[in-house]
Amino acid sequence: MGTAGKVIKCKAAVAWEPNKPLSIEEIEVAPPKAHEVRIKILASGVCGTDSSALSTVLGDTKFPVILGHEAVGIVESIGKGVTEVKPGDKVIPLFVPQCGVCRSCKSPNSNLCHRNDMTKKTGLMEDNTTRFTCKGKPIHNFFCTSTFTEYTVVSELCIAKVGPQTPNEACLIGCGFGTGYGAAINTAKVTPGSTCAVFGLGGVGLSTIIGCKMAGASRIIGVGSHKDKFPKAIEIGATECINPKDYDKPIQEVIADMTDGGVDYAFECAGRIETMMAALQSTYFGSGVTVVLGVTAPTERLSLDPLLLLTGRSLKGSIFGGIALKVSNIQGGLELMAKKFNLDYLVSQSIPLEKINEAFALLKSGTGVRTIVLF
Ligand code: NAP
Ligand code: ZN
Repeated sequence: MGTAGKVIKCKAAVAWEPNKPLSIEEIEVAPPKAHEVRIKILASGVCGTDSSALSTVLGDTKFPVILGHEAVGIVESIGKGVTEVKPGDKVIPLFVPQCGVCRSCKSPNSNLCHRNDMTKKTGLMEDNTTRFTCKGKPIHNFFCTSTFTEYTVVSELCIAKVGPQTPNEACLIGCGFGTGYGAAINTAKVTPGSTCAVFGLGGVGLSTIIGCKMAGASRIIGVGSHKDKFPKAIEIGATECINPKDYDKPIQEVIADMTDGGVDYAFECAGRIETMMAALQSTYFGSGVTVVLGVTAPTERLSLDPLLLLTGRSLKGSIFGGIALKVSNIQGGLELMAKKFNLDYLVSQSIPLEKINEAFALLKSGTGVRTIVLF
């Protein structure tokens, strides 16, 4: 291709500083180094975690930065030594890399590759440099992906190849859908006939509902504070939806009354300490499983009576639904997955990059499901 080996100038949404709107800028994207891949982004979802990074809830996000970690794109060029993909291949960037050799990658019980940047938060590629510059300044990378840009560069550890027919909404597989669906299937291992409660009806929450339904749960209670999202939650698989504001007692007591003492599985998809506690307390005392997916600020703490666990409940969490996408049994069928699960139904609106701040406003209000940026 004509651009291989050259710096590409393109548009990107740059977050120059925390809590300020993103700014659409012309940036330079350097060619991929060895074992890296430059990708032309086709679509990128705007996730609650992007919003948390911008508002510093994630802790020490390095600014200026190009956020975004849930995308689908086409390989534009490859660095030396890349064998997995070639220019023209369609890929989903992975915010959780897969080196294949670390303890997590070798274990069936974890997907959190040691070479991730979520825990280290360098905001850089593995050689401690960035491929992005804007107005003469280096711009940080986010979660090994940075997808709010027409072009990005990622490590070859951070890509899953998908079929050429994969639709744009399959970008959701790269975070929101993968996280929610995987949480039900992999992390909780929801069993047929079981009861579930899903707290927080955004992109992750609705995807969790889909996962619970696929696992055969007989009852799936959506818990949210925006009633206008209830019909969508029900269409996608919830058997009923409740709003804590409609009751004069704690929502966990309401759920216990509805389910003969509590649900088998609860999922926290809102990113709030109070909903984490409510989720835990809404599970059956003898065997309930609670999965925490929402992200809270590093200063926040869960404080709980150990008796809640001693009786038989368990509390766990997962990143990206425990999915190792490169080797997962859903790989190869990703485009089918997008069709099968009506991922387009999770997309509440599609916008051009110039309107990306509208997507952040929707996330902040809690009224949207998933906005995707189409390039
Ligand atoms: P989202 O679209 O913003 O959804 C969050 C939902 O929580 C909202 O739609 C809202 O729904 C509810 N909510 C309750 N209190 C809220 C408040 N004070 N502000 C905003 N929303 C509130 O976000 P998402 O993309 O689904 O992500 C959900 C959480 O999962 C976030 O914390 C995100 O960082 C985290 N996440 C984790 C992973 C992982 O790998 N573990 C991956 C992606 C995202 P209702 O009003 O209907 O309840
Ligand atoms: Zn995400």
